[in-house]
Amino acid sequence: MDTADPLVTPLAATVARRDHAFPTLTAQQVSRIAAHGQRRSTTRGEVLVEAGAKGVPCFVVLNGELQALRPTDRAETLIVAHHAGQFSGEANMITGRRAMGRLRVSESGDVIQLDREQLLGIIQTDAELSEILMRAFLLRRLALIQGDLGDVVVVGSTHCSGTLRVKEFLTRNGHPFQYLDLDRDRDAQELLDRFQVGAAEIPVLICRGQVILRNPTNARIAECLGFNEEIDQTHINDLVVVGAGPAGLAAAVYGASEGLDVLVLESNMPGGQAGSSSRIENYLGFPTGISGLDLTGRAHAQALKFGAHVMVAKGATRLTCGSQRYAIDIDEGARIRARAVIIATGAEYRKPALENLSAFEGVGVYYGATPMEAQLCGGEDVVIVGGGNSAGQAAVFLASTARRVYVLVRGPGLADTMSRYLIRRIEDNPAIVLHTHTQVVALDGNGRLERIRWRDDQTGNVEDHDIGHLFIMTGATPNTGWLGGCIALDDKGFVKTGPDLSPDDLARAKWPLARPPYLLETSRPGIFAVGDVRGGNVKRVASAVGEGSIAVAFVHQVLRQ
Ligand SMILES: Cc1cc2nc3c(=O)[nH]c(=O)nc-3n(C[C@H](O)[C@H](O)[C@H](O)COP(=O)(O)OP(=O)(O)OC[C@H]3O[C@@H](n4cnc5c(N)ncnc54)[C@H](O)[C@@H]3O)c2cc1C
Repeated sequence: MDTADPLVTPLAATVARRDHAFPTLTAQQVSRIAAHGQRRSTTRGEVLVEAGAKGVPCFVVLNGELQALRPTDRAETLIVAHHAGQFSGEANMITGRRAMGRLRVSESGDVIQLDREQLLGIIQTDAELSEILMRAFLLRRLALIQGDLGDVVVVGSTHCSGTLRVKEFLTRNGHPFQYLDLDRDRDAQELLDRFQVGAAEIPVLICRGQVILRNPTNARIAECLGFNEEIDQTHINDLVVVGAGPAGLAAAVYGASEGLDVLVLESNMPGGQAGSSSRIENYLGFPTGISGLDLTGRAHAQALKFGAHVMVAKGATRLTCGSQRYAIDIDEGARIRARAVIIATGAEYRKPALENLSAFEGVGVYYGATPMEAQLCGGEDVVIVGGGNSAGQAAVFLASTARRVYVLVRGPGLADTMSRYLIRRIEDNPAIVLHTHTQVVALDGNGRLERIRWRDDQTGNVEDHDIGHLFIMTGATPNTGWLGGCIALDDKGFVKTGPDLSPDDLARAKWPLARPPYLLETSRPGIFAVGDVRGGNVKRVASAVGEGSIAVAFVHQVLRQ
């Protein structure tokens, strides 16, 4: 067996905050835990948890020793040893997902065994233990990710969009993996050639060292790793939240923490658009900014801590709203039932097809023009793509601080798409230069956007400009296709709520109650809409989070009625 000194184990040695990741509980803390679990004796060599096992318990060592091991084909690698007062487990204790390693008794003794429900009970009721356990589980997961100690290997290429997608899916789900880069590792390329893996089958994912998946969909990866296994799809939930962006995660945190049983459905991966933002600088409480991945990763963990279930890579395909209980069909035909629904499916920005656009999002490419962005490009040149009112407003606004504002439109002018007053302001402002029949064709920069190339489609002329700020204002499409006509939408397809619903909207929807819809309630009682998918929403993380949490207060009222 490939082991190291059990006192300075590989994982424990590499973890920055070792005392927090592997704390030793006081006798008083252990006795509080003992009140929730069962005491049992252990025998040297006994396997308490097998790698890949479902619904694994957590063990607190009273005496003796346990070793967490990573089994490979013929050997085992010691990950960490737990001594008296220490406890086993990592983030999968909270998520309910399968065990990533093996847990074996290395010295006979006694333990307290806690199943997941008992553990969640402690986390929800004992603030001191909750902090110790949550921090340890999250730091251990982080160390597994940093130490490449997961049960998944991804073999791919950085030039392949499928590889980026798979890596992002695993990362956003907080699942550790090892990455073999075909562009750097000739052996890996040779191996794939020998197994006749073609370019279209890249990336290859080795799941739990057993199943080999070729260019798998996110749903297939979720299935292989058992991401959704713990979720009972037949249960009638108090609240189903559709979408796990900031709005949906906020609804899940508030709903679950206030005692509702909450299921979140996410068609792709937790985090939504915010999860792809490299740095959110205007979210309250983070003066130096926070990456979207960190912010939404914490929110995801928080929702799970309070007992919400989050189903990933399973989207809502249809809402049925005939009766008092609502039904949501999900991919592959299953049907989820709910007493109340929060729609938080967001919107997708229309983006030009530029190869490296995502690399510059947040570092030169923006989808909104607020005072924050205006400050970033004060005294410099900026480019705005789009001919609608939002582009016009952005041009006028940015022209007050930028040196020059180039507005690029593919059509012959603005008259068909922009309000007359904005066109006039643009024409009157010498700092704004309009280019018609023009589109951006390439972006360039090192770490942030530095150069923009655009082409005049009429003359074929191509120009390069040293400009580091590109505003894409080509509109957003709401993710409302799955609502199947159940809910009143505005003329752009966003969900209408509360005071925005006209008497006609309510009459058409046969609103059945004497009271008018609550704030954020749609044309169906008990169905709410929050965040970017809602008509009139300010497209910001803070407003999405605010609306998600406010809606829960109304869900309580609806459930009481
Ligand atoms: C690159 C970028 C940078 C940004 N930077 C900032 C910033 O710095 N500050 C700021 O305040 N705002 C920023 N924003 C805007 C902010 O991210 C959004 O306003 C916010 O994410 C909206 O949250 P949401 O939960 O309403 O929707 P989203 O974040 O869009 O989440 C919606 C979720 O619903 C899921 N979904 C969609 N359809 C279905 C379905 N049928 N079934 C199940 N799930 C579904 C999606 O996969 C997604 O995960 C940025 C946006 C982008 C794109």
